[in-house]
Amino acid sequence: MRRPISLPTTLRSRLAGAVGVLVLGTTLLAGPLALDVAEQDLRAVLGGQQYTMVSGAAAFLDDLLEARLREMAALAAALPADARRDPRRLQAWLAARTADGPDAFADISAFARSGELVASGAAAPGVQPLSAAGRKYFEETLVRGRGIVSDPLQNRLSGAKMVLVTAPVFNDHGEIVYVLAGRIDLQHARFLRQVDALRPGGTGYLFLMSADGVLIDHPARERVMEHMDDKRGGQPGLQAALRGFEGWLHGSDGTGPAIVTYKRLATNGWILGAHFPETEAFAPLARVRRTVLAVAGALALIAATLAWWLVRRGLQPLDALRRNVAAVRHGGAATDVLALGRHDEVGELGRAFHDLVHARERAAARMRAIADNVPAVIAYVDRDERFEFTNAGFDRMIGTDPDWALGRTVREALGDAGYTRLEPLIRAALRGEHGHVEDVRSDDARRHQMIDTIPDVDADGRVAGFFVLAMDISERKEAELAQAASEQRLRLIADNLPVLICYIDRNHRMGFGNATFHAWLGLDPVHLPGMHLAEVLGKPAYDAARPRLRQAFEGAGATFEMPLQALGRHRILEWTFVPDVQAQGRVAVAVAGVYALAHDMTRVKEAESRLVQMARFDSLTGIANRRLFGEMLGQALERVRRQRQVLGVAYMDIDHFKTINDTWGHGVGDEVLKEFAQRLAGCVRVTDTPARLAGDEFVVLLEDVKGVEEAERIGAKIVEAVRRPFATGAGNLDVTASVGIALVHGVDGPPPTQDQVLGWADTALYAAKNGGRNRCVVRREDEAVTPPGPQARLR
Ligand code: GH3
Ligand code: MG
Repeated sequence: MRRPISLPTTLRSRLAGAVGVLVLGTTLLAGPLALDVAEQDLRAVLGGQQYTMVSGAAAFLDDLLEARLREMAALAAALPADARRDPRRLQAWLAARTADGPDAFADISAFARSGELVASGAAAPGVQPLSAAGRKYFEETLVRGRGIVSDPLQNRLSGAKMVLVTAPVFNDHGEIVYVLAGRIDLQHARFLRQVDALRPGGTGYLFLMSADGVLIDHPARERVMEHMDDKRGGQPGLQAALRGFEGWLHGSDGTGPAIVTYKRLATNGWILGAHFPETEAFAPLARVRRTVLAVAGALALIAATLAWWLVRRGLQPLDALRRNVAAVRHGGAATDVLALGRHDEVGELGRAFHDLVHARERAAARMRAIADNVPAVIAYVDRDERFEFTNAGFDRMIGTDPDWALGRTVREALGDAGYTRLEPLIRAALRGEHGHVEDVRSDDARRHQMIDTIPDVDADGRVAGFFVLAMDISERKEAELAQAASEQRLRLIADNLPVLICYIDRNHRMGFGNATFHAWLGLDPVHLPGMHLAEVLGKPAYDAARPRLRQAFEGAGATFEMPLQALGRHRILEWTFVPDVQAQGRVAVAVAGVYALAHDMTRVKEAESRLVQMARFDSLTGIANRRLFGEMLGQALERVRRQRQVLGVAYMDIDHFKTINDTWGHGVGDEVLKEFAQRLAGCVRVTDTPARLAGDEFVVLLEDVKGVEEAERIGAKIVEAVRRPFATGAGNLDVTASVGIALVHGVDGPPPTQDQVLGWADTALYAAKNGGRNRCVVRREDEAVTPPGPQARLR
């Protein structure tokens, strides 16, 4: 059985083989190439030589034709006068000339100007045509007026192949009377015989053809009159020569490669050619070629073997390095074998490789250390679900020796329960998908584990295996649950507090809001996040809050009140803005947002206004009390001074009120007091405010009193109003009151004090009491009290 041919596989063998083959080929090619170059040179030399010889031969043939033309011209000139006139004499003369000498023309004929054959010197007539009219040689002779050598012709009757040499015969007036035509039979012409010595080599030959390629002379006589092109495989370069090419060229015809030379004759453009077969021209070179090839072959074999051996030897260290690398790779040798002592490229390669392997080992060790020290389980599982890598965390988890699981399947290493738990993740990873679970371990229900699987997808999208990363997240989980619980609690509290609680971001949009937003504003807390504050509160309220909001975003908290109309209710809200300051360490860097709280202050405000009311009005009678009266008196005194008016201060006291109390009880006393206040208010202008100072004492400010008379009139009116019986629970009671009025005039300087003014009015009241009660006494501030006259007594 034939063994299949196998090519060498090592670089060293391949390189040695390639160099050997290259040297062999180059050396083998060098000899023939040199020979080809020599052949080219030789061809050029031979071509040049041949052209020189052919040129010489052409010059000789030119001379020959010129001689024939001269010969005919001489005959024409020598034609005797009688022969010109008498055709029979002409015939005889021509016959005599035709027979002259061995080189003479085969026949000499004479044609009249009309072209008609007049006489022929040939013994055998009929060879010449009877008329030359229209023939090229004849017409051309007439036109030129001198002789020419015709192109080869073939007689239609006899088939004779010939050329004609012509000469015109002139009469005494210089007109052409005859054209003489000397015939050269090509069958016997032997133009080339005379230049045969110049033919190239032993097998080479010369040939002569007309300007249009009709053979005139050729070693193969039968080819005369043949057109060169008619013969298959005509001469190389023939067409070029017919177009005018002169010189040498080489090419092939039917007989093989040859050097062919062409030269035109000056006389009539005929072409003289030489054909030199290269088999003869290069025969000596062919003998040398065989020797050269044999020597080159031998030399090539030796050189190739030497080159092959040198390359093999030179690459031996590379081979050694390869073996060492293989040994290191398969763990059989220490990396130090790579650190070669050589100072060439192989040494450098070895050391570089050594350094790389070392760096890789260090990196692998580092990676191992990292993987072993992270508080996580890391593993790599291949397509067949076998562990390829496990870290120390993995070994601790399953409680085995280091690397015990390597090569084992996941099911073998983790057991059926463990495998079942991981199976969905494994399936997903092998499909090329990431997997993530936060898993409660079955053996200890309180521990939480987070497991991630990451597929290892190669460049073609094929899953080669997957990484497993597992971490104990129990603490994080518990913290998350605790936080979620506390957040829920806080939410519950916030939702149930009767306050608006929300977070406002830097763009004045809502973060969260509690359930109170729904109760107060009809806004679902679910839709609050992202809403603009202007939408939530309405544009006017938002505009009112903006300066405070800006203040809060600058880091200063703010509290302010703001009315809010929503869901048909008017509320007064007290807002508190608390900036959410983001800190780096202990340094506050920015306010991220603002926590806002709003209390409904509506009730408090109402209570407050009630209190204010209570503080300034008398609770029994509903009219102003001493406090409000004091304020009004102060303002009135100031006004009076400014406007130069007169202010009346009327002081009233119910007469014997104690007796009413004592007789009918305090309740009836109170009824009397209330009714008294009513009647008092009815007696004065709406601008004149009545007030109760204490017990049964009342006062009224009478603004812009025109004088004592008007004051007295008002006082009398009050006294009169009281005199009507008081309807009480104890029946109608007769009640009287005393009135003291002080008049204060507005003048420059400081106004009198309230106590002074009240003192003056009290003095007047005292006077009224003293005067018998049930009356009014008026006094100016600057006069003594007028004792009550009898006209003042009303009862
Ligand atoms: P006079 O004619 O001199 O004024 O005699 P009078 O009895 O009215 O004496 P006086 O004005 O000094 O008495 C005021 C009384 O009014 C004393 C007090 O018991 C009584 N009194 C004070 N405040 C109230 C009150 O709010 N209700 C009732 N029913 N009685 C009051
Ligand atoms: Mg009284």
